[in-house]
Amino acid sequence: MSDQTKIDALRHAPLSPRGLLIDGQTGPAESGKTDTVISPIDGSILTTTAAGTAGDTERAIASARRAFEDKRWRGMPPAARKKIMLRWADLMEAEMLALAVMGVRNNGTEIGMALKAEPGSAIATIRYYAEAIDKVYGEIAPTSDDVLGLIHREAIGVVAAIIPWNFPLMIGAWKLGPALAMGNSVVLKPSETAALSLIRMAELALEAGIPPGVLNVVTGAGKIVGEALSTSMDVDVIAFTGSGATGRRLLQASAASNMKRCYLELGGKSANVVFADAKNLAEAAAVSAAGIFRNSGQVCVAGSRLLVEHSIHDEFVAELSKAAAAIKVGDPLDLTTQAGAINNQTQLDQNLAYVETAQAEGGTVAQGGKRILQETGGYYMEPTIITGATPEHTIIQKEVFGPVLAVSSFADEADAITQANATDYGLAGGVWTADLSRAHRMVRELRTGVVHVNTYGGPDVTVPMGGVKQSGNGHDKSLHAFEKYVDLKTAWIKL
Ligand code: ADP
Repeated sequence: MSDQTKIDALRHAPLSPRGLLIDGQTGPAESGKTDTVISPIDGSILTTTAAGTAGDTERAIASARRAFEDKRWRGMPPAARKKIMLRWADLMEAEMLALAVMGVRNNGTEIGMALKAEPGSAIATIRYYAEAIDKVYGEIAPTSDDVLGLIHREAIGVVAAIIPWNFPLMIGAWKLGPALAMGNSVVLKPSETAALSLIRMAELALEAGIPPGVLNVVTGAGKIVGEALSTSMDVDVIAFTGSGATGRRLLQASAASNMKRCYLELGGKSANVVFADAKNLAEAAAVSAAGIFRNSGQVCVAGSRLLVEHSIHDEFVAELSKAAAAIKVGDPLDLTTQAGAINNQTQLDQNLAYVETAQAEGGTVAQGGKRILQETGGYYMEPTIITGATPEHTIIQKEVFGPVLAVSSFADEADAITQANATDYGLAGGVWTADLSRAHRMVRELRTGVVHVNTYGGPDVTVPMGGVKQSGNGHDKSLHAFEKYVDLKTAWIKL
C-alpha cells in the first residue's frame, strides 16, 4: 500500500471524545463541559476535548506533586527511566502515520512536513533525552585538598508545559523530553486548536511505563487552564512556547504568585539576508520561499523578513515570486501539498488584515495576498510577498504567523545588520553569501538565537533553540535544555 493510500484510509477515521488525563485516569472535566474540535482542512467537526477548569488544573498539579514527592519516577534507577522513555518513543514510532494524520486533521500542517517535524522529530527528541539520562554526570569542583565540592543536579518539581498549535508533538517533546528525563513531574496543557495528537502522545507515555501522576494532561482554554497553572503556588517551572502577549502574562503571574521560573519561547520577525555574492540565487530564492511558506508560515523561526542587496532586488523578487506561485497550497493530507491550511479562522482573518495594513502603509503585494479554496470550508491563504515595506511599517515590526513575507533592500553589510537587528524580536535569521568571512561576521552580528547560513531551517535536536530580546529566554533542544529542569545543589565537605 502506498503512503498516500494509508493516509487516505486514516483521513476520516472516527476520533473519540477526549478527556483529561489526571493521575493516570482519563475522565471528563469537573464541569462536564467540552470544547468542539474543528478541522481547518474543511471546517468539519472532528470530536470534542474536555474543557478543563481551574479545579481540574489544581487536581492535576496535586497529582504531579504527589508523584514528585513519593519519588515514583525520579527515584527509579536512571537506566530504568531510560528504558521506559525509549519504549515510549518505540510506541510512537509504531503508530507514527496515525499520529501524524490525527495531528494534521487537527492543525492543518501539510502531511509531508508533519511526518518529519511532528512524530518524526518528537520521536528523535524523546530518544535523545532518554539516552542522556544515564550519561549526564554531576561535577567535582576544583577546590583545595582539604575540602570536596560536589555539584549535584536535582529535579526541580512540577513543570507546567504550555504548548502552541503549530507543532504540538515536536514542541511538546522539546519540553517533555528533558523535563521527564531529569525526573520532574509534568502538567501538560495543549493548545485549544491542536490537542489531539499530543493527548495520544501522553497516553503512550503512560502505556510505556511512565507512572500515573508523573505526566498529566489538562485541555481547555488558555485563559482558564493556562492561567491556573501560571498562578499556582505549587508549579515550579513554566515551559512555554507561544505568543509574546501570553509570555508577558506568564511573567506577571509568576511575579504575583510563587516566582516560578518562566522559560519562554516567543515569536520572531526573523530576517533572511541575501547578498549579491550568494552562490546560487535561484536556490536561495527557492529555499527562502520554503523558509517562510512551509506550514503556511506558522513557524516561529520563519524567515518572515527578507533583506536583499539593492543590486539584485528586482531579479531576486522575480525568482522568489516564481517560487511562491509554484507552491502547491491545499489539502494538507495530500503528500504533494507544500503548504496546508491556516490553523483557525481567527488566524486567517488576522493574516489578511496584516496584508491590508501593509498596503495601506505603502507596501505592494507582489504575490498572493488572498484567501483561497473557500469552497472547501477550510482556511487557506496564498503565499504572499509584500515589497516596498520600510522599517516603520507594521509588516516589518509585527509577527504575522502566516504565509506573508515582507521584502526590503539594503545597501551594504552594515546596513543589512542595522535593518536585521531593528526589531524587538531575536529568534532566528539567515544569511546567503559565498564570502566565508562575511558569513561568520554576520553570524556574530545578528542578535538572534540561531543564524542559518546558505540555508533556512532544519536544525535538529543536537543544537539549542531559543530567542534573545523579546523572543524569550532559555533553550529547548540539546543537552542545554536540561538546565531549565534541574537545580544545582552544592555539597561543601570538609575533609
Ligand atoms: P498562539 O497565538 O500561538 O495561539 P498563545 O500564546 O495564545 O499563542 O497560545 C499558546 C498556548 O498558550 C496555548 O496552549 C494557549 O492555550 C496558552 N495560553 C493562552 N493564554 C494563556 C494565558 N493567559 N495563560 C497561560 N496560557 C495561555
